[in-house]
Amino acid sequence: MTPGELFILSAPSGAGKTTLIQNLVNGRFSDLGGLAFSVSHTTRQPRQGEIDDRDYHFVDHATFLGMIEADAFLEWAKVHDNYYGTSRQEVFPRLERGIDVLLDIDVQGAEQVVSKVPEAHGIFVLPPGYEALERRLRGRGLDDDGTIARRLAVSVGEVNRYDRYRYVIINDDARRASEALAAIILEKRYRRERMQLRIQEILRDFQDRSQIPPT
Ligand code: 5GP
Repeated sequence: MTPGELFILSAPSGAGKTTLIQNLVNGRFSDLGGLAFSVSHTTRQPRQGEIDDRDYHFVDHATFLGMIEADAFLEWAKVHDNYYGTSRQEVFPRLERGIDVLLDIDVQGAEQVVSKVPEAHGIFVLPPGYEALERRLRGRGLDDDGTIARRLAVSVGEVNRYDRYRYVIINDDARRASEALAAIILEKRYRRERMQLRIQEILRDFQDRSQIPPT
């Protein structure tokens, strides 16, 4: 079985990453079956509409710290005053079954993943500008002024770390950005090495059938 590919998607908060992921998972602009979204653990409180075990595994501090102790995380980080982590369980069993996995994690977590899984593909989503990011953070109505100011301050450091990622998508148009993300994932799927098992089956079929004389 050819293992799945690991994709890391990072962006400053409010850059539109969640919408991009939803578009992919719903197959809105392109059909990308067989892509699994890794559900992170977090100590943050659920926002309105978020569902436990779908959007995040919402856990308390003690549980999170226990998982760090047990080495259950592929990576973890403190982001905006809360802990976030990707459990190994969300990632490796799927990769082993040939399923592609997408991580939505911050730049600190991305660095940890790349150091452990160097073949992971890093994709950075850049907002088209500072004002656009501020507008989006205010427009989504999820955070108070203090939180927005903190997220904007953090974003300045984050955008400067774009160069740790192989791919950069500028999210000035949701449709184009979703298509770009799908294209990156598809390109990996159609690599010859990845297709090897299917190719061998087809070649065997040609070999077998070409030896049967036509009736
Ligand atoms: P939010 O609280 O808005 O859902 O997420 C805040 C930030 O935490 C986002 O940049 C998101 O990518 C990041 N994040 C979510 N899950 C994880 C995770 O498992 N690990 C790390 N390092 N960051 C995460």
